[in-house]
Amino acid sequence: VSEEEKTEDYLFKIVLIGDSAVGKSNLLARFARDEFYPNSKSTIGVEFQTQKMDINGKEIKAQIWDTAGQERFRAVTSAYYRGAVGALLVYDISRRQTFDSIGRWLNELHTHSDMNVVTILVGNKSDLRDAREVSTAEGKALAEAQGLFFMETSALDSSNVAAAFQTVVKEIYNILS
Ligand code: GDP
Ligand code: MG
Repeated sequence: VSEEEKTEDYLFKIVLIGDSAVGKSNLLARFARDEFYPNSKSTIGVEFQTQKMDINGKEIKAQIWDTAGQERFRAVTSAYYRGAVGALLVYDISRRQTFDSIGRWLNELHTHSDMNVVTILVGNKSDLRDAREVSTAEGKALAEAQGLFFMETSALDSSNVAAAFQTVVKEIYNILS
């Protein structure tokens, strides 16, 4: 059996959380399909999408879960979080209110999943420079205080989208290997 054939299968469940309309579904659409929906409705959310990734020559499957809009009613269920080993905690840099919700999302994540779930704080819509309400420094400071990774992304212009998912998957892989 060659080295290649001996590779194990890794399947990591990763959840997308954060307020409605911060761009969770579009981050997933950009990452998994290189698509963007300028006027997306919450109904475009799939249950999850499995994306193959290569980390240190190993094939990893990231099973990325998206909500179908239930976050609008604060009704994300425990089944959504169950078994998650990674999370992208997303806010919109152009709406401070979505940044103010991060603490609540973090509590919910820790209530429903393992305390060690690898989490990245994601400030999405970095392309909206003129409408920015949350500075990069504020995002960074919150992430540091909470022990989270941090990145600003744009699902519109693609910046840092793959990097944000890769950061989480790499760290999970490092912990497990
Ligand atoms: P969700 O409710 O968190 O899943 O958010 P959606 O992905 O449905 O996005 C909500 C709205 O924000 C849609 O109109 C998207 O086109 C828009 N949007 C998402 N990501 C970005 C981004 O990076 N930049 C800009 N300018 N708009 C975005
Ligand atoms: Mg959505």
